[in-house]
Amino acid sequence: MNIVIPVDSLTALCAEVFEGLGSSSEEARRVAVSLVGANLMGHDSHGVIRVPRYVDWVRSGDIVPNQTIERLVDAPVIAVLDGRYGFGQTVAPLAVAIGIEKAKAAGLSAVALRNAGHIGRVGEWAEMAATEGLVSIHFVNAAGSILVAPFGGIERRLSTAPFCVAIPQEGAEPVVLDFATSLVAEGKVAVASRGGKSLPEGALVAPDGALSSDPAMLYGPLTPAGPRDARLGSGAIRAFGEHKGSGLALICELLGGSLTGNGATRPGRRFANGMFSLYIDPARMDPSHLFGGDAARYLDWFKQTKAIPGQTILTPGEPERAARAKRLAEGVPLSAETWESIAAAARSVGLEEARVNRTLAKI
Ligand code: NAD
Repeated sequence: MNIVIPVDSLTALCAEVFEGLGSSSEEARRVAVSLVGANLMGHDSHGVIRVPRYVDWVRSGDIVPNQTIERLVDAPVIAVLDGRYGFGQTVAPLAVAIGIEKAKAAGLSAVALRNAGHIGRVGEWAEMAATEGLVSIHFVNAAGSILVAPFGGIERRLSTAPFCVAIPQEGAEPVVLDFATSLVAEGKVAVASRGGKSLPEGALVAPDGALSSDPAMLYGPLTPAGPRDARLGSGAIRAFGEHKGSGLALICELLGGSLTGNGATRPGRRFANGMFSLYIDPARMDPSHLFGGDAARYLDWFKQTKAIPGQTILTPGEPERAARAKRLAEGVPLSAETWESIAAAARSVGLEEARVNRTLAKI
């Protein structure tokens, strides 16, 4: 059964949880807005379902509240940045702002970010650059989170290593392609394990090579309130797109991991996102002013493709905007189990029962 919570109430509660953990009120609100923003965009896997895990990470020292980035290299078109295990929602936008500033000055920039806490929905950072009129490309790894079997494999070797590109459109919404290179993001397995949307058939692989959609394959035996710890399961998520998707995942590990200094995914490593980003100013790359008009013409023609009955032709970014419009109006649906895990996290940082319940009372 789903509970629907108004956006403002959910954001306020999550912000109080992070403030209770020691974040400044600005950081607490930023993390909360980002997580609720992922729910609004329809990506429940990267939304408030993460609150209990973030709470655990702060307590274990894996995430450090109120952190700032360190500039290891600061050249005209290159920056190498250490997020020093700050909240991803704090260090990722700082890194993106540096990439934007350099690309606006030089036409192009490359930014390597290492040791970032979980940066959530990568599209949020690409949209930040698109708002400034810049194209951006992001290769991300999640070092320490070994969950995905390469094409043809049974054993875990890759993280869910997301890839993202955003292309701004003058006077229109940007194209935002943003996905995990695993068949499903790990958070989608967590959502399915807590009564949310089930996994597609064959999203997971068992140790004997059989395909599966049972979340217990990743987390081990499931109890309603129990943890979702991927170290307890014996199966793996499969890479998407056969050999091509598995190849892109490998590239994300090598660029988002090895090149940024985050390190490609390996056993025993503390969780950290690494992100290698390229920023391009189309105004500088396109002296004949063809890009905007040509992209608009092409997107229009693309959208007019005759569709298979029952299907709609969408451009990347459209499903998220549709979800956002609906959920802003109606509220964010959460499974009862997800709500209970957030409420428990809120109580654990000292919020009173009446305060927690007020979030629901506003429905
Ligand atoms: P997904 O499978 O839902 O794919 C999303 C992408 O596909 C979007 O660009 C969307 O606009 C596009 N899309 C969806 N349906 C479409 C359609 N019918 N036609 C055209 N385009 C369509 O995404 P996912 O793999 O589940 O990833 C979810 C989120 O998880 C992403 O935001 C990703 O950045 C994030 N993620 C983060 C990490 C991390 O470590 N921080 C790791 C993995 C994933």
